[in-house]
Order: sequence, then C-alpha cells, then structure tokens
Amino acid sequence: MKRIAVVSGKGGVGKSTITSSLGYLLSKRMKVAAVDCDVDTPNLAFFFGLGEDDFEKKVVSTSETAKIDYAKCTGCGKCKDVCLFSAIEWKDRPIVNRFLCEGCGRCALVCPEGAIRIERVRNGWIGRAEGRFPLFGGQMKMGEAGSGTVIFELRKMADEGAEKAGAELLLIDAPAGIGCATIAALRGADFVIGVAEPSPSSLADLKRVLQIVKHFRIPYGLVINKGSLNREWRDKIVEFAKEDGMAILGELPYDRAFVDSLVQMKTVVEYKEELRGPFEKIITALAL
Ligand code: SF4
Ligand code: SF4
Repeated sequence: MKRIAVVSGKGGVGKSTITSSLGYLLSKRMKVAAVDCDVDTPNLAFFFGLGEDDFEKKVVSTSETAKIDYAKCTGCGKCKDVCLFSAIEWKDRPIVNRFLCEGCGRCALVCPEGAIRIERVRNGWIGRAEGRFPLFGGQMKMGEAGSGTVIFELRKMADEGAEKAGAELLLIDAPAGIGCATIAALRGADFVIGVAEPSPSSLADLKRVLQIVKHFRIPYGLVINKGSLNREWRDKIVEFAKEDGMAILGELPYDRAFVDSLVQMKTVVEYKEELRGPFEKIITALAL
C-alpha cells in the first residue's frame, strides 16, 4: 500500500478539499482509504457527508491528572505549595485545574492523607467510518494536549485498517503546523503533496513544513491552490518551486464552489464537474 500525505504548514489552504477530491476520483480506479490527521479541527469526513456519529470510536488517553478525594482531604494546603504548574487553586479547598495539571504526581507524594490519585484522562477518540471508502479520523476534547500521541495511534489504526480492507493507497490529510502532530502524520509516507496558496504566510509555512519532509527524505511535489487570487504571490511560489527543484503537480483556481461544496457536504469535484480537470492533472502527475 502506498501512502501519500497532504501537508501545508499553514491551516485553511485546502488540504482537506484536495485530499477529498483526490480520494473521490482515485476511488473510481483503485482501492483507497483516507485518514484525517487533524484531530483538533477535523473536517475531511464532512466532504463525504459523514459526521462524528458515523464513526465507530475508540477512546484515547494521552495524559494524566490529579484527582482529590475530598472525603480524605483535611485542607492542609501542602499539595498547592508543591505544585510547580500552579494547577491547584484554592476555593475553601484544593481544586485541580485540569488544563494546567501535568499529572507529575508531586501533590500525591506530599499529601499526608493519601487523598490524591493520579488518573488517566480520556481526552479524545479515534475511529473509522465507512463512506465511499474507509475513512479514519479522531478528535481531541477541547483544550487537551497530546495530539501527536493521538495521531500516532490514529495512523496505526488507519494503516492496519486500510491494509485489511485491501487498500492500494492511503491518503493522509496532515494537520497544520510543523510540530509533533505533523511528524506523526507523515510517518511512513511514500510521497508528500505540499499545498500553498498565494500569500506570504502560506509560502513561509510551506518552506517550514518542507524542512521536516526533507529531514525524513520523503519525495514531494507542490499543488498551488487559489492561484488566480494573487498572481504576484502565485509567481513567487512558482519561483520558489523552481529554486527548490520541486515538481509542480498542479494548480487549482479560486472558485466559490470550494466553499459551497463543503456546505453541501460533497467533494468539490462532485459538486462542480468542471473542476475535475485540474485534479485529474494532479493525479496524472502523481503517476500512481
Ligand atoms: S499532578 Fe503535578 S501538576 Fe498536577 S496538580 Fe499535582 S503537582 Fe500539580
Ligand atoms: S495535601 Fe492532601 S490533605 Fe492537604 S490539602 Fe492537599 S489533598 Fe488535602
């Protein structure tokens, strides 16, 4: 099974739009699976008319937190004094702030009453949905950290599930950014599609994310999205691609259909057939 990841560095430049339409078109000629590795703001499933309830879910836990048994607590205040993360607030009694607690266990060690336990936090889910093809995804609860760990688990589920389903291609919709979440999404990728839109921030973020791609020595190419919006910055991206030696796999025009298709929960190539041409060009350039 081949794995192709779609990355951008910057969010909102069209990774999921591109992943969904490539998936739709490719699924007509080969066995495809896809995984949405943006577990903070996932949206790949929407393009296939799927919502959270369509996923068969597995709860994931990436962190730990302190839990106080108030039946045992005498209010001595030792736990608050030793917490290095200011995670214990005092409102007549110690209260753990879940978003600040790192689960380090210092408070549990000093509590004379044995009133503090360190517990795992159920902070997200990963799962599989059946649409046009197997789709894997997940979601972190609001404010939770550890998306890299969740994506690692999600990729494992997607790799195993896609292989089992006989997929010849796994499309990976990578999260925005250049942190451990992106690195977890890129694991084992055979090829990377970098996506940029004509803006200074998109080009800067593309360059940053390509540093990771180059570090892992994954072959890559470029898709320019909404190129018609700003010719000057579109040309700067082309210039960068030439300097870098990166192949331009294709260009997508700016079109309102890209937004409208998501509202209609369809891939843009289903919503507006005239847009199939540029995507077919990308598929040809991928030489699958
Ligand atoms: S587990 Fe660590 S971070 Fe959390 S409240 Fe206790 S001392 Fe503070
Ligand atoms: S150290 Fe233990 S007994 Fe003292 S305030 Fe904290 S939880 Fe209560």
